[in-house]
Amino acid sequence: TVTVGVLALQGDVREHVHALSTEGATAVPVRRVAELDAVDALVIPGGESTTIDKLLRAFDLFEPVQRRLRDGMPAYGSCAGMILLADRVLGGIEGQRTLGGVDVTVRRNAFGRQVDSFETDLSIEGVEDGPLHAVFIRAPWVEEVGPAASVVGRVESGPAAGRIVAVRQGPLLVTSFHPEVTGDTRVHRLFVEIVRESQG
Ligand code: GLN
Repeated sequence: TVTVGVLALQGDVREHVHALSTEGATAVPVRRVAELDAVDALVIPGGESTTIDKLLRAFDLFEPVQRRLRDGMPAYGSCAGMILLADRVLGGIEGQRTLGGVDVTVRRNAFGRQVDSFETDLSIEGVEDGPLHAVFIRAPWVEEVGPAASVVGRVESGPAAGRIVAVRQGPLLVTSFHPEVTGDTRVHRLFVEIVRESQG
């Protein structure tokens, strides 16, 4: 079995732990370096990317997580987690830093004030059995995708149709939306498969 940590500084930690457990992983909250050292992979939940950045530093986790990512640890980032795993950010606070890892430029709060939150059905490459219900909450989108990364999902209808909202780069997966709030665990299933594959 694989052990997947959920960064437990902010966000829907319990929901991610539950979804990962449903998909057969051993899922544990991660708040300390010793806990990080014990996991095969990490989920970074949504919340507020600038706050999670500050908390990562306050808990002395920023560099250890970055080191693990550079060593090839699989990671899945949702919403603020996507921002933290992106190499470049637009619309952030001045000097906003990210852990990086995924060769994309994301735009924070990209969908605009009128549509702070919205829901739509879309397909993700690697997720089987039909479209997913995707819930966006003050979400980023991906504005540029570098050669190392692959688009695996876009908004399919409405005013934001065509916007990139899911990207994969090797063992790293990011989505603009929150799969942990719907009870549909297929994105977590995909991530657990990625973790298993990375172990050979
Ligand atoms: N707007 C938030 C940020 O910039 C992300 C929102 C979310 O994670 N639901 O970090």
